[in-house]
Amino acid sequence: MALHDSSYDCDVLVVGASFAGAACALAAARAGLRVTVLERKTDPGERLRTTGIVVKEAAEQTWLSRAPSDCLHRVERVRLYSPRLQSLALNAPGYYFLTTDTPRLMRWLADELRRNGVDLRLGASFTQAQRDGDGWRVEGRSQGLLPIQCRTRSLVGADGAKSRVAERTGLGRVREFLYGIEYEFAGAQLPEPDALHCFVSKRYAPGYIGWVAQNPTGVQAGLALRHDPERARVPDIDGFLARVGALVGLPSERPDSTRAGLIPCSGPVFPLARDGALLTGDAAGIVSPVTAGGIHSAWAHGWTLGQALAAQVRSGGPAPERVAIDSAPRFRTKRALRWAFDRFQFDWPFDLLLHSAPLRWAAEQVYFHKRGDSQAQVLRRVD
Ligand SMILES: Cc1cc2nc3c(=O)[nH]c(=O)nc-3n(C[C@H](O)[C@H](O)[C@H](O)COP(=O)(O)OP(=O)(O)OC[C@H]3O[C@@H](n4cnc5c(N)ncnc54)[C@H](O)[C@@H]3O)c2cc1C
Repeated sequence: MALHDSSYDCDVLVVGASFAGAACALAAARAGLRVTVLERKTDPGERLRTTGIVVKEAAEQTWLSRAPSDCLHRVERVRLYSPRLQSLALNAPGYYFLTTDTPRLMRWLADELRRNGVDLRLGASFTQAQRDGDGWRVEGRSQGLLPIQCRTRSLVGADGAKSRVAERTGLGRVREFLYGIEYEFAGAQLPEPDALHCFVSKRYAPGYIGWVAQNPTGVQAGLALRHDPERARVPDIDGFLARVGALVGLPSERPDSTRAGLIPCSGPVFPLARDGALLTGDAAGIVSPVTAGGIHSAWAHGWTLGQALAAQVRSGGPAPERVAIDSAPRFRTKRALRWAFDRFQFDWPFDLLLHSAPLRWAAEQVYFHKRGDSQAQVLRRVD
């Protein structure tokens, strides 16, 4: 196959310049493909829908390891609170999370795309796609409502939980969600800044947890719960913070800003890829149904997809659609745990068993996946 087929305006058109889209675009562009990214925000650091906590594996084994160090803050412990606010400190030697100055991280990622030859179009929304021969004819709109048209060999939907690419191309759509809301307190300092404070409470966070964390520029405090589209319930974050704020040393001022969004929680969608249209990240439902962490899986899947698209064009490698499906985590155990948690969540076992060995073991599995230094994996750095 010719590397650059001139009947296409680009080899890959990616919709969305967040973690999944950036990873896919970077991997494909670095392997020599012509990559265009449409991102509807004019500033990638605005209107964020993530806390932005990055797990150790993503921090060390992916391109994110190159992020400017002053937009990262290391958190080595989890303090888990029972509904009655008794707490348990958890850690795994050698393991950590990074909280981030997420607006800056997203802007840095956009710069990385440009530096690596990606045609990044900010303020450009994807609107429509139609199959056109072996490729796709894609339509969009720029901020000034100017039409965008592009003929691409492959179309990648990295456009989040409510993917328009999935809708327009007839791919699978995410049906089950958590809903998360978070306040940001700029400049605030927690007395215990190296801990991620997590709160189990069926009253405030049915189906998930509440959290408070120090980041490089302030404090984030949030709450997520199971989203029911029939009886959409707004998380009572003010009530939650009135209950836990003083305990963790949160300032009593009003927050400076709010982040909120839907989090897929039912595993990968079906079909995830077909006929040169492929989904990745939240659009593909690739988020842990238990921890609701999606940054690392979005990055890993997006990157694999970008490499597969390049391998196919350059050397006739395996069909990227197959790679997209096979490399998507299935989350079988985590989906079973999600099912059980949705039906049998009670506060009393957490109050009763907080300091017991089985609960500590289970909590360490969830937060650290048994991965301290003792089980350190061989690092696959991407440089
Ligand atoms: C409140 C909250 C807190 C979270 N906290 C964490 C956490 O701490 N750690 C963690 O690992 N995960 C967390 N998650 C999950 C994590 O944020 C997502 O899994 C991750 O951001 C997925 O990345 P993505 O690139 O697939 O999609 P997204 O980050 O959702 O990005 C989609 C991008 O597509 C763009 N886009 C959408 N539609 C269009 C269109 N039509 N045209 C052009 N562009 C478009 C959007 O503007 C956006 O930039 C959280 C989620 C929420 C909601």
